[in-house]
Amino acid sequence: MSEGEGIGALRAHHVMCVTTFAGKGYSTGFVREMTRVWRAIRDGSVAQVLVTAEADPVCHACPHLRDVENPESCRFQASVASRDRRMIEAMGWTEGQPVDLVQALEVVHESHTDLMARVCTGCEWVPICSRQRFTLREPAFDPGSPEA
Ligand code: SF4
Repeated sequence: MSEGEGIGALRAHHVMCVTTFAGKGYSTGFVREMTRVWRAIRDGSVAQVLVTAEADPVCHACPHLRDVENPESCRFQASVASRDRRMIEAMGWTEGQPVDLVQALEVVHESHTDLMARVCTGCEWVPICSRQRFTLREPAFDPGSPEA
């Protein structure tokens, strides 16, 4: 995935993860891709994404994805896809549908506590995201900085 390339599809629960993304992740590649998605959304250069329950461009750089040609080859596919489906259900979406990001992020920010309780069970990043530092709403925030 190269700089400037679009997002296209996103795992549904990543629409939530991006709101509190603080430059942490499973590998430098994962962080690089999540930062690219975070910047594209923060800058408004992506208006909508297709919400899925399988590997997305961020996952393609994750060490837990066994085969980039197989979107269901995440080592933790069952639990991660279940998180996606809980997000899809909580947001009233249908898997594979295009989602308007401005609207979706408004809901995620306003209902974050409730969504975390419904969606995030089992995620190792709960201690960070539950601080509710909404980095997308911080114009000066840079997930790549050492202070992030
Ligand atoms: S706790 Fe995990 S699933 Fe929930 S928003 Fe944070 S990174 Fe995403």
